[in-house]
Amino acid sequence: MADLVMVIEDEKEIRDLVRYNLERAGFRVAVAADGEEGLQRIFASRPDAVVLDLMLPGRNGLELLRELRDEPTTLDLPVLVLTARAAEMDKLLGFERGADDYLTKPFSPRELVARIQALLRRSRPAREPRAIEVGDLRVDPGAHEASFRGRPLALTPREFSLLAFLARHPGRVHSREELLRKVWGYDYVGETRTVDVHIRRLRAKLGERQRLIETVTGSGYKLVAPAGAA
Ligand code: CA
Repeated sequence: MADLVMVIEDEKEIRDLVRYNLERAGFRVAVAADGEEGLQRIFASRPDAVVLDLMLPGRNGLELLRELRDEPTTLDLPVLVLTARAAEMDKLLGFERGADDYLTKPFSPRELVARIQALLRRSRPAREPRAIEVGDLRVDPGAHEASFRGRPLALTPREFSLLAFLARHPGRVHSREELLRKVWGYDYVGETRTVDVHIRRLRAKLGERQRLIETVTGSGYKLVAPAGAA
């Protein structure tokens, strides 16, 4: 399947221009008009690269970038930043793990496409999903397989995503709201019971190892880190 590029830009004309040119180059394109929507859509649709305008209403591009870099699942996501002023790049270069590339407005759409293609080529090895091992649990996002002590677990796609997310952060507590946002991609927090239902099913499939997923009263869920692990 073609790579998916998320375009986060509040100016409709630029958004349409970028979308048109990326689609013509064979990419799949998703768009968002502000930072909040952009962030939600990134977690929901897991794009391969992001075109991010810096000046956005509400949460601006810099804040968004920091949030992406703080999150293990989007840490390596290639981001090309659009900025109106070259001076803004100094700010971007000022912090670690910022944008992967920049373009100053006005830019040539052809240039943008070339930069995105280059970013995706460079990031390819990092994007090969690696298997996650937590004690006797092994989760392989590439093969979409999970096993415990070598015994495969028969999981639905959602159960698999949930287990993979928990396994990426062993020992860390996640609220139901966070899980809905990052595993389900929901932008509302009404139906937190959905999370409980899936956790229950996941535990049932883990059988005697169901204590691997711990309920933290009042907070949420965590995958128990094996003894001796950080
Ligand atoms: Ca803007």
